Formats: sequence, structure tokens, C-alpha cells
Amino acid sequence: MRMRDVPNIFGSMVFNDAVMKARLPKEVYKALKKTMEKGTTLEMSTASAVAAAMKDWAVDKGVTHYTHWFQPMTGITAEKHDSFIEKDGVDGAIMNFSGKSLAMGEPDASSFPSGGLRCTFEARGYTLWDTTSYAFIKDNTLCIPTAFCSYSGEALDKKTPLLRSMQAVEKQALRILKHFGKDDVKRVIANAGAEQEYFLIDKDAFLKRPDLVNCGRTLFGAMPPKGQELDDHYFGSLKARVADFMNELDLELWKLGVYSKTKHNEAAPAQHELVTIFSAANIATDHNQIVMELMKTIASKHNLACLLHEKPFAGVNGSGKHNNWSLSTDTGLNLFEPGDTPHQNAQFLLFLAAVIKAVDEYQGVLRATCGSAGNDHRLGANEAPPAIISIFLGNELTAILEALEAGEKYAAEGACTMEIGVTTLPKLPKDTTDRNRTSPMAFTGNKFEFRMLGSAFSTAGPNIALNTALAEALRQFADVLDEADNTKKAVATLIKDTVKNHKRIIFNGDNYSDEWVDEAKSRGLDNFATTPEALPVLISQKSLDLFERHTVFSHPELTSRYEILLETYHKTLQIEALTMIDMVKAQIIPAALQYQYTLSKLMNRKEALSEGVDASLEKYILTKVSNLCKDMLVNLQNLEKAKTKEAMDALRNTVDQLEAYVPRDIWPLPTYAQLFSSTN
Ligand code: ADP
Ligand code: MG
Repeated sequence: MRMRDVPNIFGSMVFNDAVMKARLPKEVYKALKKTMEKGTTLEMSTASAVAAAMKDWAVDKGVTHYTHWFQPMTGITAEKHDSFIEKDGVDGAIMNFSGKSLAMGEPDASSFPSGGLRCTFEARGYTLWDTTSYAFIKDNTLCIPTAFCSYSGEALDKKTPLLRSMQAVEKQALRILKHFGKDDVKRVIANAGAEQEYFLIDKDAFLKRPDLVNCGRTLFGAMPPKGQELDDHYFGSLKARVADFMNELDLELWKLGVYSKTKHNEAAPAQHELVTIFSAANIATDHNQIVMELMKTIASKHNLACLLHEKPFAGVNGSGKHNNWSLSTDTGLNLFEPGDTPHQNAQFLLFLAAVIKAVDEYQGVLRATCGSAGNDHRLGANEAPPAIISIFLGNELTAILEALEAGEKYAAEGACTMEIGVTTLPKLPKDTTDRNRTSPMAFTGNKFEFRMLGSAFSTAGPNIALNTALAEALRQFADVLDEADNTKKAVATLIKDTVKNHKRIIFNGDNYSDEWVDEAKSRGLDNFATTPEALPVLISQKSLDLFERHTVFSHPELTSRYEILLETYHKTLQIEALTMIDMVKAQIIPAALQYQYTLSKLMNRKEALSEGVDASLEKYILTKVSNLCKDMLVNLQNLEKAKTKEAMDALRNTVDQLEAYVPRDIWPLPTYAQLFSSTN
């Protein structure tokens, strides 16, 4: 492929609008568009015509199978492949794809986590075609994006509640916009844009580490002499193997209509980042899933392993995912963009106030959606935001809000009395808003960047929480405005009161500092250090009420999600502990014994050879190694008794010390230094 062909290959594997227009009968196209845009039910005759056209298009590209592609609660995607093949009634076969097969599938739901929602006698689940997301071809298979629900209609996936949350925030935002005279706005879209971090190492090295294979992270490994101290990896030039991988990844993503935009080396050795251009949150979530999946499969083709775990290596930065979030209208407005006129400013400030209120009131819920065993290694560990939620607005915007609250002059260039809806905001220079890299939720000029997500996360959960919390704040504002005689005054009061009641959530300082932890405590902000502490917030009455009111989750749906997240957390720790035990018994102990045997043989031979030959080095090392082995045995037995984090840390500690003494050719695992340079 020549690079100037990119516009031609972009989206070539997507059944997108252009393909639909070209391949569908006019009436069918119109009916489908109506369903896509207005959510109207689709006639079976339309579905049949679409299915036939999809199949013809796919078969032209060499496709033989189709799958309902969905996002169960495992956090990754699932697919079950069926071929288009049917008997032709004689001896041959025809390729067929019916409207019914397109519209609905019935995978057995019993092997997907349901958190108690599904009893075995109703194990059936349904996948339902999500017409808002285009079908695409991946690995010679036609993928139909679908929602996944139980026999009795409860959502068993991440997509359904995400779509519901987008509807909820849209509904309330439209109510607000009416009060600003925006009658031409018919749709409000919640957007997301993900920045994805990941590690790449050589696959052969990867396969030699049961901890990486089982758990996605190293459970042992002494710090190498050189880690990320020199900061020489960040934005450094790409290694040839890595560049080849990235080129193929870009190409395959572009074919699937994913706007892969930016790629670079990240802070830690062997760490990289890929950024896609933002889109509607459901599409962004689908696309981020595709990004993560293709990273893994394309890496494998290059004999590389892609690590999406939040903390593959102790001692160097782990991987996160930044979720850039905004609301826009079908008329091209970004509702988080400060405007040029007093009227636009008032609207911007009201939406800003709603975000401040939403994040403050549902800080625990937002924190909980970023909880996982993997992300617990990052949050609060001075490489990622703390576990405390706060919003960074920048000094200028904060000063403006404070002036509004106090009804005072905003003292800056072009100083003016801040009267909402009357005076124009001073132009906010965008670059000053983005300097704080330590904030979990930073306003970056015309969007919020939510930075607490782990690299392995689906973006669905945090966006569901952001959209729904904002929907609730906007609902309360709209209720007030609906009753108000003087809209301008009511808007001013809402903004003022919100700043007064919720300004504790605004913090522009260093989120990594110890002072912030104390300060946040005195402000009464939540600080859930670990996932088990954070998760119960999800099933608090306040949270259950929020999601039920906006019909995003019913109580049973939310409770089941809580159960799944908690269970996944505990299972992950259990698997890690068992993997450690296994590695120590089957790999580390044999290596340590072998080395001790060699040392003692050497020592005895030397001493036997002639008196006075010095064997003090052998003796010294043998003593060291055997003492460490003694500790290792105690720590191993402790871990076998109680699989706690402390016991895991203790065992790791002795094994990592041992690693320093045992020769590389005996040590059974590739070391950190070897892993970091394995793609050279
Ligand atoms: P930075 O490098 O400062 O984090 P970028 O400008 O590179 O910011 O953008 C990062 C991500 O934010 C990209 O995915 C981009 O598409 C997305 N983004 C930009 N504008 C918006 C917006 N209005 N709403 C949501 N995401 C956005
Ligand atoms: Mg960013």
C-alpha cells in the first residue's frame, strides 16, 4: 500500500453510510437511516434486505462467516462465528444471511458473568443488532455489533447501559438548551476519545514468564540497573520492529474506520501510546475495544506480545487510559467550549457548573468505575492520579467562578464585573488549562480529560458514570429553569450556588503531593485507596437511585455488576498468588538448589585440593543464597496459608534478592533488563 492510498482504504472494511447508499434499495436505506437516527423499530423486511446486501458486500471481500460481536462483562469482546453456508436443496451450497440472523442471535449466556442475574434454567441470552454502530469485517468475518441481554431483558453487557446513559444525558441537555433558545438542536451527543497506553516485548521472552502469561504482569523481577531514570524513552525514536508493528496496526485500524491518529514511545522502557480521534462514546468504546484487540493480534504476528495490564513491571510506570469527554450537538456546538458572546458564556458556565456538581456528588461512583486489581497498582502511586477525585480547571477559570460566587470584579486583563449572561468571559488561553498532568479530571479547554482509567479497561463504565451523573445535575438545573420567571437570573443563581456548594472538588495543585491527601480529607472528599473499598459505593442507595431514575441500570442490573467486579477482583488476586507459588516451587527453587549444589561442589573440591586454597567467595555466596532460600521457604509457606497481598510482597522480595546472586544462565526467567531490551 502506498501511503497516498490511505483515504481509499480508510473504512474499506466497514459497511458504512457510503456502502449502504450504494448497495441498499432507496426505501431500505431510508428506513435503516431512520432506525439509526431515531431509534425506531426496524421492519423484518428491511432487516432482510440489509442482511442480503451486507452478505453480498462481505462475500465480495472473501468473507465466509458472520458473528454477533458483543461486549460482555468480561471487559473484552466476544464473538461466535457462523458461516453463511446453507444447503441449496440438491448437493450444493448457497451463501445466505437472513434478516433474523442479522437482527438477533441466541448465544448460550451461561458462560458469561451475570452476577447472579441469570439462573441456569434461563441460561439463554440474546444479542440484538445495534444499528448505531456499523458492521465491519475482521479476520474474514462479518462482525455485527450487538447488545447482549438476558432472557428476561436485563443488560448483560457494557454497551446497552452506555447507550442508555447517552440517551439520559441527551434528554436533560436538550431541556437546558431550550432555555437558551436552541430550538434548532435536535440531538446532543456524548463524545469520548481514548488515549491508550501499552507495553511491547518479545513474544519468546513473554512465553518464558508464567506470570506474564497467566496474569499479564510480572510477579517477580529485580529492578534492572537502568529503568526509566534517564527519561530517554519518552517520545524517543521508534525501534524498527516496533515501527513495523505500529504501521501495520495503523493500516488495519484505518481499514476498520478507526481514526488512529498519534503514536509515540511513553515514559517507561518498552511502553507506547496510541491515540484515536474522538467520536460518539459508544463508537469510541467499540473502537477502543478494536484497538486493544488488534494490538494483541498484530503484535503476535510480529512475534511480539502486547501487554495491556496496568502494571506489568514494578518500579517503572504502568499504563493508563485517558478518556477525553465532551457533549456536542447536531448543529456543531461543543457544549464545553467557552463561547464568544455573553449568551454563549452563560450556557457554557451552566454546563461547567453541572459537571462540577455531578463530579462532586458522584465522586465515589466515578472512582468505583476505575477500580480493578490491576489499576490498584497505579492510582495514588505517583505515576497516575490519586484515588481522590478532583477537577482541574486552571487558575483563570477558577478565579472567574470565584468572582461569580462572590459577585465581585474578576481582576485580570480586560477586567470586568462578572455578570452572567451580560459580560463576556475573558478569552481563556487553552495551553494554560492543560499543564496539570496530575489531575484525575482536567478541563482541557473544550473537553474534560478523565485520567483514572486503567489501560485494560473498557471505556464503557466510566462514560456511563460521567453521562449519568451529568444527566442528573442537568435534570435538577432544568427543573429549576422550567419553573423560573427570569431565566437569566435563575442561571446566575444556579451557577453561583453550585460554585458555593461544590467548589471543594476543584483543585489546581499537585495531586501527587502528600499535602493534597490531607487537604482533600479536610475538604471531606472521598479517598478509597483500593477497589474493595471503592466498589460498595456502586450499590449505595444514592447510586442505585441515580441509575434507576435515568433508566441506565435497574437495581438488579447494578447489583449484579457490583458482584461481578468484586468477584473478578478476588479471582485475580487468587490467580496471582497461585501463579507465584507455582513459579517458586517449579522454577525458582530448582534453580536455587542447582546453584547451591554447584557452589558447594566447587568449595569442597577447592578445599580438598590443597590446604590453604581460599574458598571464601564460594562460602560467602553460598551462605547468602542459602539464607535467602530459608526466608523464601518461610514466605512461600505463609502465602500458601493465607493468600494476602502482604504475603505476596514478602515472597517477591526474597525472590528478587535471590535473582541478584543466581547466574543468568541458571535463573529460569528473563530478567527485567532482558524484557525491556527484548524488542531490540
Ligand atoms: P492531549 O495530547 O493534550 O491529551 P489531544 O489534543 O491530543 O490532547 O487529544 C487527546 C484526545 O482528546 C484525542 O482522542 C482527541 O480526539 C480527543 N478530543 C479532542 N477534542 C475532544 C472533544 N471535544 N471531545 C472529546 N474528545 C476530544
Ligand atoms: Mg492526554
